[in-house]
Amino acid sequence: MGILLPDVPEEYGGGGGTFAHEAVVLEELAQAGVHFGCSVQSVVAHYVLAYGNEEQKRNWLPRMARGELVGAIAMSEPGAGSDLPGIRATARRDGDDYVINGSKTFVTNGWHAGLICLAVKTDTGVPGARGMSLIVVETKDLPGYHVGQPLEKVGMHTQDTCELFFDDVRAPASNLLGPAEGKGFSQMVEQLPYERLTVGVSAVATMEHAVAITTEYVRRRMAFGQPLLDFQNTRFTLAECKTEARIGRIFLDHCIERYIAGQLDEITSAMAKYWLTECECRIVDECLQLHGGYGYMAEYPIARMWTDSRVHRIYAGTNEILKELIGWSL
Ligand SMILES: Cc1cc2nc3c(=O)[nH]c(=O)nc-3n(C[C@H](O)[C@H](O)[C@H](O)COP(=O)(O)OP(=O)(O)OC[C@H]3O[C@@H](n4cnc5c(N)ncnc54)[C@H](O)[C@@H]3O)c2cc1C
Repeated sequence: MGILLPDVPEEYGGGGGTFAHEAVVLEELAQAGVHFGCSVQSVVAHYVLAYGNEEQKRNWLPRMARGELVGAIAMSEPGAGSDLPGIRATARRDGDDYVINGSKTFVTNGWHAGLICLAVKTDTGVPGARGMSLIVVETKDLPGYHVGQPLEKVGMHTQDTCELFFDDVRAPASNLLGPAEGKGFSQMVEQLPYERLTVGVSAVATMEHAVAITTEYVRRRMAFGQPLLDFQNTRFTLAECKTEARIGRIFLDHCIERYIAGQLDEITSAMAKYWLTECECRIVDECLQLHGGYGYMAEYPIARMWTDSRVHRIYAGTNEILKELIGWSL
């Protein structure tokens, strides 16, 4: 449909737009209840765009834009999620290749992924983040690479989430992202504002949509001889939700403007992801309550929004970790 990578330059097959175009696509999808991992496609593309050399960009980005290569980003491991410097997957240089061993979990798009941006330790001799690198792995017919069955989640059923296993997997050394090993952690820190902003966009679209469909519902649903909307509690609840959604929209638009101007700092993007997703979950929960028992039925969109939105507080950096980041800046 031509909606992949709207904010990647045309010379690499993208739409040639800005993050505003990406935001429109994400908003429309979120309002339709579709979270199929296209934001992950963009996130991976932006790693390649930011740190890839010309050959890497020309090799991967056009195929990603056409949807021929599905991207995934694999950082989390069974023993290390928030504690990213604690990852144990390794890539050992052997001639012109890296030999990769280890496992990853919770990888969005993992089932379909043809291209994985993989966080590994290239130097196990140095502690923490300093020995981390990002290596791009093309998975097609790759010996030693295995994908687990998609994990069963409570929500987000339109995107798959998988475990990945690497058993002496060989990737060309030229697939390292960036000029040298050991830059992986700082590259992730630099790119996380983009990912957090995409989550913020979905959060605001979801809250606005929740308020809209709930307003419609309480207008039609009768109780005690009157529409639910005629109860003051219903009106007050929706008034609060609508106000918070408006505040969220204005904060998000401010962040998008700053991102496009190249001025969105790490702390503000952390604030946006943390606050907007807390607000989203609060609003969706209130809106579900106004649907009564029907709100708990999977066939009702609000039920799906409730289960889908919950993970927004967990991935792309848990909200607790983001509050730590904000706290350190005080
Ligand atoms: C649906 C889904 C999709 C995902 N997609 C991806 C993906 O594509 N790629 C990828 O790499 N990962 C992905 N993740 C993983 C996600 O990023 C991690 O789940 C997240 O970073 C948290 O890590 P964890 O699950 O190991 O929790 P833990 O790190 O074990 O945290 C557990 C709890 O402890 C809290 N905590 C941890 N450390 C601190 C601290 N220092 N201070 C205060 N509280 C703390 C956390 O906030 C959390 O509440 C996905 C997860 C889900 C559920």
